[in-house]
Formats: sequence, structure tokens, C-alpha cells
Amino acid sequence: GPGRKPLIAGNWKCHLNHFEAIALVQKIAFALPEKYFDKVDVTVLVPFTDIRSVQSLVDGDKLLITYGAQDISEHDSGAYTGEISGAFLEKLGCTYAVVGHSERRTLHGETNEVVLAKTKAALRHGLTPIVCVGEGLEVREAAEHVEFNVKQVTESLAGLSAEEIGKSVIAYEPVWAIGTGRVASANDAQEVCAAIREAVAEIADEATADGIRILYGGSVNAKNIAEIVNERDVDGALVGGASLKADEFAQLSAIA
Ligand code: PEP
Repeated sequence: GPGRKPLIAGNWKCHLNHFEAIALVQKIAFALPEKYFDKVDVTVLVPFTDIRSVQSLVDGDKLLITYGAQDISEHDSGAYTGEISGAFLEKLGCTYAVVGHSERRTLHGETNEVVLAKTKAALRHGLTPIVCVGEGLEVREAAEHVEFNVKQVTESLAGLSAEEIGKSVIAYEPVWAIGTGRVASANDAQEVCAAIREAVAEIADEATADGIRILYGGSVNAKNIAEIVNERDVDGALVGGASLKADEFAQLSAIA
């Protein structure tokens, strides 16, 4: 959208060990000349066990690509076996942390309340939360998708200051479009992203709503990215499957 630098974020999900991670980031960097980074921010959201390796590569070769985590603990430290805190991610140079991805909401029971706590944890540690929302097919078919997403955004950001909201990214990812090959139409993406921006104006203010980046996610690839990011309120994409292919991910980053 106008005045907002697009963000292309590759969500690797549970794919690629640290060795494979290095190879993919190298290939992406090779395929994406530095000049593109004036126009687009590019990040990879990798498994926790890849972060250290990706950090070494990015720092060592002074790459302009950034990286982040796919989840974050709501706690900073303590008796929380298996959790990874924002303090650790900050120390590893992460820029982003995904919160409330639909797979975590569905498979790990994350509620808007949990997503809010994780969003706060990211912000406490200087990480940019990528807060995910999105309706399932039944909600879409009942034509309740706008209200549904506005409620998820409002509850997932409840009580945050305008300044905090302004430091966040929101990703609209309709569940029926994730990993299905069934991309939302550009109009559908725009409708919900515009409604989310209005909701941000309500809970924060107009300036925050104007500045915040709202991404679309769900079966984005190098063929459909142009149409989607052409929409006024869509400021980039969260990319799953297509982010595992260096050439395609670089290509769609260059198009955005
Ligand atoms: C995602 O995992 O956030 C996603 C959008 O996946 P895909 O691009 O594979 O639909």
C-alpha cells in the first residue's frame, strides 16, 4: 500500500534442518541482488534450531535478508519446559516472531488471549510480532469473515498502546487458503485487509493504521503475488510452501 514498504516473509514451518537452512538462505541471497532491498523487506521465519546457523551466515556475509522465529513463549524465563523465550530470540538477532499462526491456533489450542500474551512478549524484547488472523471455510461461507477477522485482531491486540501496535505486523491468512493451493482473490484479500486497517484505527489511531503493515498469506507464489500486493491495503505476503524454493521466493520478493 501507499507509503508502506512491503514485507515478504517466508514461513518454513517444520522444514529444513540447520544445514539445509544455510544452503537455502545462501541461494536466496544469491538470487536476490542487494538493490531489491531498497524496495522490499525480505525475511525467513525458520525452525528454532536453524536460527543460530542463519544468524552466522547473515552476519558473516552481511546479508540484507533478516530472520525470525515461528513462535515465541509468552514467558521470559522460568520453569516452562520446552519453551523458547523472546530473550533468547533477541540475543540471536531475530527481527520477527510469528504469533498465532493458524496451525498453532488449531493444533496447539492458542486462543486470542495466548496470542496477545505472545505479542507482548515479542514487543518486550524488541522483536516485531507478525500477528496472524484468518477465518475458516465455514465462516467465509457464512459471509462472516470481516467481523471474524476484526474480532481476532481486536482481541489479539487488546490493551496494547498505539505505539506497540505500530511496531507490529498483521498477517491475514484465511485458513482455507493455507497450503491448499486455493489463493484468495485479490479482492477478497483487500476486503479483509482494509477492514483490519480500520479496526487498527479504532483501537489505536489513524496514523498507526496508516503505517502498519498488513500481509496476506495463503498459497502465495511467484505467479499470483503481483496481483495481491497491488491492492491498496496489502503490504506484502506471508509465504509458506513457495518460501522453500530459493528461485521462486527470490522471484516473488523481487516482484513485490
Ligand atoms: C503459511 O504457512 O503461513 C502459508 C501461507 O502457507 P502457504 O503459502 O503454503 O499456503
